[in-house]
Amino acid sequence: MSASPDRPLVPEWLAVPRDVNALAAEVWPDAAHRDDRGEVVVGGVSASALRAQFGTPLYVLDEDGVRARAREVKAAFDAATARHGIHARVYYASKAFLSTEVVRWVTGEGLAVDVATGGELAVALAAGADPARLGLHGNNKSVAELERAIEIGVGSIVVDSLIEVERLAVISDRAGRRGESAQNVLIRVNTGVHAETHDFLATAHEDQKFGFSLAAAPAVAARIRELPSLRLVGLHCHIGSQIFGTAGFAESASRLADLYAELLAGGDLPVLNLGGGFGIAYTSVDEPTPIAQLAEGIVDAVARECEVRGVPLPNLAFEPGRAIVGRAGITLYEVGTVKPVVVSDELTRLYVSVDGGMSDNARPALYGAQYSARLAARVSDAAPALARVVGRHCESGDIVVDAEYLPGDVAPGDLLAVPATGAYCFSLASNYNYVPRPPVVAVSGGAARVIVRGETIEDLLARDLGVTGDVSASPLAASDRTPAPKESA
Ligand SMILES: *Cc1c(COP(=O)(O)O)cnc(C)c1O
Repeated sequence: MSASPDRPLVPEWLAVPRDVNALAAEVWPDAAHRDDRGEVVVGGVSASALRAQFGTPLYVLDEDGVRARAREVKAAFDAATARHGIHARVYYASKAFLSTEVVRWVTGEGLAVDVATGGELAVALAAGADPARLGLHGNNKSVAELERAIEIGVGSIVVDSLIEVERLAVISDRAGRRGESAQNVLIRVNTGVHAETHDFLATAHEDQKFGFSLAAAPAVAARIRELPSLRLVGLHCHIGSQIFGTAGFAESASRLADLYAELLAGGDLPVLNLGGGFGIAYTSVDEPTPIAQLAEGIVDAVARECEVRGVPLPNLAFEPGRAIVGRAGITLYEVGTVKPVVVSDELTRLYVSVDGGMSDNARPALYGAQYSARLAARVSDAAPALARVVGRHCESGDIVVDAEYLPGDVAPGDLLAVPATGAYCFSLASNYNYVPRPPVVAVSGGAARVIVRGETIEDLLARDLGVTGDVSASPLAASDRTPAPKESA
């Protein structure tokens, strides 16, 4: 193995920690701490109690953390827009983490919900969400999905192609949705601004699937305005994910404002939806802009752009996903093997294999995402060793934490916690290698309860119509690692 520019032996940003047991506050859930036995405690429940009750791997979600972040983000956008005499609607981008329980938490805190498929819509409805406070996205919503959305009265639909506009108009018309009851739609606009974590790129021409170009949007708006079953209420744009700073949003708002001003000539446009993408800290070197500051920066930028064009400032909408759930989640794994690998004369890396991997967290394999890890059931004063936490799948790219210093005595049976896994881990989980997906446990006030049960071998075989052997006799039968939901003491 040799160093490559994008995967150096030791990443430049990774320093040997002063305390290899410390939990960086910006990365871990609110109030996560070590108790007097050195155990990580989240939501008042210790890591070994969680292991004893639910097994590993285990997704743990800090309910109070999700709720607190939902309140904080909503308050930030409410305050930032109130200064300009307008309103904000905050949609939770459900693809970050979706279950009925989480929908109830965020809607309970006043958020609306974004869904992008019929499946996500079904979960939101199963949670009892108000259809009028749902937004539907997607570049290729099926006819059945559009029909369902119209039938249940989804609040707004973001249209992504002219074919979809015509399709939706027919469905809406057939449902008798004309005039006052016409379906609210927004046009997804591609402003040519792409935000990366620390940078943004602005292009004039686009080569990707989402939305209409700034040049194409006016004709789409004109067409929608001709259709009696649709009501054009605004423009939507989403410039990317895991964005730090306001510069990308400001550039996008400036471009969107030109289009907005132009379209106002043809009728009302009461909403601009600026999407989500607000970044979180995955490791202690990430420094995301605090949400209140971000909200103010973005809203002020939009206000400025409207003012210079002499057009009224519309109400705004936002769609945070990761910023709501990301830091509230941790994943618990059990260490199975530890293997020192001599990488060069100077460097030995400890490969620490855990009982999960790319099936429960695809982000390192998909995006080269970085995470951190800590021993969860004990502290250690062993010297820090450079480690790579890897999964159990048949891929060398099956990495959970690419580079981290762990106590050099990390050993089989140790419980390892990876923080900041609340977003895009459960939702991107797979059954690769026929590994059952882990349960999700919500913790709050010292109690833990299963909100999504883990998969069993029986689940894995449930769709295979050729089963002839005895599934329950499998030595891997997972039913016994997923006890029935019960409250912890
Ligand atoms: C994914 C997505 C979001 C949420 O992104 P986060 O980075 O999780 O905030 C919001 N809006 C749209 C259209 C998206 O595709």
